[in-house]
Amino acid sequence: MTGDPLIELRDVNKHYGTLHVLQGIDLTVDRGEVVVVIGPSGSGKSTLCRAINRLETIESGEIRIDGRPLPEEGKELARLRAEVGMVFQSFNLFAHKTVLANVSLAQTKVRGRKRDEADRRSRELLDRVGLAAHADKYPAQLSGGQQQRVAIARALAMDPKALLFDEPTSALDPEMINEVLEVMRQLARDGMTMVVVTHEMGFARSAANRVVFMADGRILEDRAPEEFFTAPRSDRAKDFLSKIL
Ligand code: ADP
Ligand code: MG
Repeated sequence: MTGDPLIELRDVNKHYGTLHVLQGIDLTVDRGEVVVVIGPSGSGKSTLCRAINRLETIESGEIRIDGRPLPEEGKELARLRAEVGMVFQSFNLFAHKTVLANVSLAQTKVRGRKRDEADRRSRELLDRVGLAAHADKYPAQLSGGQQQRVAIARALAMDPKALLFDEPTSALDPEMINEVLEVMRQLARDGMTMVVVTHEMGFARSAANRVVFMADGRILEDRAPEEFFTAPRSDRAKDFLSKIL
């Protein structure tokens, strides 16, 4: 740990009706860290990501990004969303816009860049995710793995301080998973702060600084990957690992 917290959650609680979906979550992600979040379906992983990006409100506790509390609404909230990018399982690209336009759009709208400046940046980022040759195509002309890499380029175009990934490869055919994970590994090597919800244990072992194991709205383990995978402490984690490994 560098001791330079970028994302901080303190005693965060949230209910959906009677379901206590986040139960006193404490989590700190330092600048440059890669934290992989794993756990059974329904444990609250997506809700956690959405709370960090304020796509969900919380009832109590505190979330800080780079030392500042999450804004409630308005311009400050738009700025926060630009600072903490999110990549979802479904890529949500605009079907009627080219790849280049998909990556440029928010740059002009949120970051206030001129179109040609945004397009220049978009081409750099498309090159970085291995899609320079596809800038003028439409999403439907790309594979799922390519579309997800466009979504990553689009998130990077906001110059985020951190990126949240919620099961970014779960919707992909197996042969496309690795090309997306490889882009994510490269981002990790370049020092991007990342929170990654994934079932890809190979990625967790190779790219994560820490593995956070969630079950029933709680963080049960938060440890280095080699420790977690070789000697999980909680019965829930042992049970989970025995099912997926
Ligand atoms: P995970 O991503 O770990 O599978 P989620 O955060 O998606 O878990 O969901 C945690 C629990 O909260 C699940 O039981 C889910 O059914 C419930 N849940 C998620 N979103 C909502 C919602 N908008 N309204 C009601 N319940 C929800
Ligand atoms: Mg989920």
